[in-house]
Amino acid sequence: KLASREFQNSNTIVTVDKASFGGSTIPVIAGPCAIESYDQLYQAGISAKAAGASMLRGGAYKPRTSPYSFQGLEKAGLEIIKTVGSEVGLPVVSEVTDPRKVELIAEHVDMLQIGTRNMQNFVLLKEVALTKKPVLLKRGLAATIEEWLMAAEYIMSGGNNQVVLCERGIRTYETYTRNTLDLTAVPVIKHLSHLPVIVDPSHGTGSWRWVSPMAKASVAAGADGLLIEVHPCPEEALSDGPQSLTLNNFSQLMAELNTLATAL
Ligand code: PEP
Ligand code: MN
Repeated sequence: KLASREFQNSNTIVTVDKASFGGSTIPVIAGPCAIESYDQLYQAGISAKAAGASMLRGGAYKPRTSPYSFQGLEKAGLEIIKTVGSEVGLPVVSEVTDPRKVELIAEHVDMLQIGTRNMQNFVLLKEVALTKKPVLLKRGLAATIEEWLMAAEYIMSGGNNQVVLCERGIRTYETYTRNTLDLTAVPVIKHLSHLPVIVDPSHGTGSWRWVSPMAKASVAAGADGLLIEVHPCPEEALSDGPQSLTLNNFSQLMAELNTLATAL
């Protein structure tokens, strides 16, 4: 299989502009859950860049549990993230939820995100394979590591080897946290596959309070990067406010990660 260590032993390095996943650095993707306005994304982006983030994120098409929740700014959101990314000097990533929107989204971003709810949307996986854009493939809500790697296989066999895996927590009997962050997946993936694997402790825990400790634990476990939700005003966020770091807390975390990285 294309993602396996048997097929290729040397680590794949996925580069997105100046960010590279799978090499010696640990890039951090930061930004709000959803793009809400130009000002919101600009504030998040400029602070994330100053704090040392390597990429800016933000959803324009949001796969919300309830159809009555904010669904995203859609095309207007894509234009905002493209503009803000170039203004603050960060490559950008946004989620694709619909095969019919892949081409449009690919014109506005540097990396395409496949969310947890779509990890086994095989039509969508085949469609993103055709774009040749780097893909951030999140682990499904209840997917085994084997199923997750098979999803990567769909993208790679479709002609796109630029896949970064993202552990974002799985559903277990525990309800105190939003999901159970499976950090064991990091060394397991590194053992089975040559693909880079990053960790998203924001969705993994569901609460800003646990994000920083789990981000540090991820780096200690060997993660090739992090995805952290950051919002200029989490109390007013239209989605995932409770798990979003303030700009100050994010910059504090980045300082701590630097100290940790030099210690490892
Ligand atoms: C997101 O990154 O905002 C998101 C919806 O993530 P997930 O697919 O992991 O729930
Ligand atoms: Mn989110």
